[in-house]
Amino acid sequence: MGCATEDVIAALRRVNEVIAEHRDELVDLDREIGDGDHGENMRRGFEAVMSKLDMSELDTPGAVLKLTATTLISTVGGAAGPLYGTAFLRAANAVGAATELSAGEVAAALRAACEGVVARGKAEIGDKTMVDALQPAVRAAETAMADAAALSAASAGGSTSAGGDGVPAVLAAAADAAEVGAESTVPLVARKGRASYLGERSAGHLDPGARSAALLLRALADAARK
Ligand code: ADP
Ligand code: MG
Ligand code: MG
Repeated sequence: MGCATEDVIAALRRVNEVIAEHRDELVDLDREIGDGDHGENMRRGFEAVMSKLDMSELDTPGAVLKLTATTLISTVGGAAGPLYGTAFLRAANAVGAATELSAGEVAAALRAACEGVVARGKAEIGDKTMVDALQPAVRAAETAMADAAALSAASAGGSTSAGGDGVPAVLAAAADAAEVGAESTVPLVARKGRASYLGERSAGHLDPGARSAALLLRALADAARK
């Protein structure tokens, strides 16, 4: 058993709730080293995603991720809109037409999402962006994935691939690593995005996009635990 279309929709519902709960926090973070719109951009974007999903009949996780991507691109704006939009679009392409996602497919979707952000924004680890949360999350997800596969191989019974049990473990590992990665942005000097205009003065602040990426992954992990 893996992660079916309705599970992905439920997970995005949780993301929308978490982003709305943290809207003001993200605004405050972005006020310190940016222009103060990140929380409202993200809240508006995921609110729009929920309305679109409520109006649509989608039959694969990939279709849900694709609609999420196009909605975020058209409603979030700023730097984060195209970046998160690209992330969801790459995740959608990675899972293709699968009707249910295994742990391996979830880990592969996370990798594709992160690579999309890097391709689009050209940020590297340490540049004080959402990449500082996403890249460690991908590595942790892949490690958890390998552990789950080894476990299921060891527990005899043969052909069960690391599936249903593995998805919550993969996402929890990703969320834990993303939170640590987001915190690691505090002392950094921003080298990408609006915060980089501040130079040294950007140090001592948590990057809002790294924070929203960690929140997003935590929401997905919470939803997967059910
Ligand atoms: P804007 O700066 O246009 O107002 P947001 O406030 O919505 O956009 O998003 C800011 C966040 O976007 C930053 O905190 C950072 O994490 C992320 N970001 C900005 N530029 C890049 C980039 N080139 N690569 C990755 N992430 C970036
Ligand atoms: Mg901003
Ligand atoms: Mg802005």
